[in-house]
Amino acid sequence: MDDFIPVSTPVFEGRERELLAQCIETGWISSEGPFVEALERGMAKRTGRAHGVAMSSGSCALQAAVGALNLHPGDEVIIPSFTIISCAAAVIRSGATPVAVDCDPRTWCMDVDLVRQAVTPRTRAVMPVHIYGLTVDMTRLDVLTAEYGLAMVEDAAEAHGQQCDSHPCGGFGTMSVFSFYPNKLITTGEGGMVLTDDEALAMRLRSMRNLCFEPQRRFVHDELGWNWRMSNVQAAIGVAQLDLLDTFVERKRTMGRRYDALLADIPGLERPLPSTPFADNAYWVYGVVLADEVPLDAVQAMRRLAERGIGTRPFFWPMHEQPVFRRMGLFADTHCPVSERIARRGFYIPSGLGLTEEQQERVAAALREVLVHA
Ligand SMILES: *Cc1c(COP(=O)(O)O)cnc(C)c1O
Repeated sequence: MDDFIPVSTPVFEGRERELLAQCIETGWISSEGPFVEALERGMAKRTGRAHGVAMSSGSCALQAAVGALNLHPGDEVIIPSFTIISCAAAVIRSGATPVAVDCDPRTWCMDVDLVRQAVTPRTRAVMPVHIYGLTVDMTRLDVLTAEYGLAMVEDAAEAHGQQCDSHPCGGFGTMSVFSFYPNKLITTGEGGMVLTDDEALAMRLRSMRNLCFEPQRRFVHDELGWNWRMSNVQAAIGVAQLDLLDTFVERKRTMGRRYDALLADIPGLERPLPSTPFADNAYWVYGVVLADEVPLDAVQAMRRLAERGIGTRPFFWPMHEQPVFRRMGLFADTHCPVSERIARRGFYIPSGLGLTEEQQERVAAALREVLVHA
């Protein structure tokens, strides 16, 4: 269908072409080029951090961050069940045990009260994840991690330019992680970053990213690392995108407000909260949840929207319901009724930066038709 509205398309309206041309002209296309450091410095400045370490994806940034905590078998890391698999995978591959907690029914973000209940003598770290444009209650989580002496890896992959209690997302905890995948607020094609204030951790992350080459004796290794390097070509796009971040966040908020107005009187549709006491929604994506009285589930509604030329994405599927983890014997006693419900009844509608007003009106009309005729 020609006029299909995709769920997300990236936009390039800054210096992307110019900086990419510089990569070609100078020959700097590997991770040794200058844009990698420029992007690291730029992100560190935006989040108030001392160090940024660019990685080849958000998922390996999470893996590196959790890996740098030196966890041991039996150590527990509390994660939300409602998140991407990268969070749980990073914990498991670091040899520790993920403990999943449920999310708040209105913000879809990890419930800090449930985190407190999940703390045991084996808990070593917490991984809050900001979901779809709202944030975890980081001020209360900060109190909790200080009280129990826990490390924190903040997954801010969906929260570039967002704030929580006037503090930049990506500026909380021991380390924070971003992704620059094309559906994120800013993109490098593929890419990610770990940020921290701890210089020793930053050095460890740089070493892990680069196969743990020894600075003095290059091909002698004391530890096993990975090649998680970001290329200068990727970073060039990122540097240009970072200039546009404030514009992009503002555009997403405008999109969110417009959807709010267009969808307000559709019965049976639970919409995102415009704000919480600690954050204004940045609407990274605009998620909707079908109320219990709607006789369709998310899969059926998404199919009907696709027939009308509207792209959608399902919500995350809870970690405690993942076949791969259940087979490993993980999460056997975990129940997260909110995550289970929104996974089955939630999806997000076109929310890309390239979305036009006219397209938003078409999305709203299609949603109305699907729900009224359900
Ligand atoms: C996108 C995303 C990631 C993973 O990032 P990739 O760059 O795709 O590997 C991690 N966490 C969250 C919350 C995400 O949305």
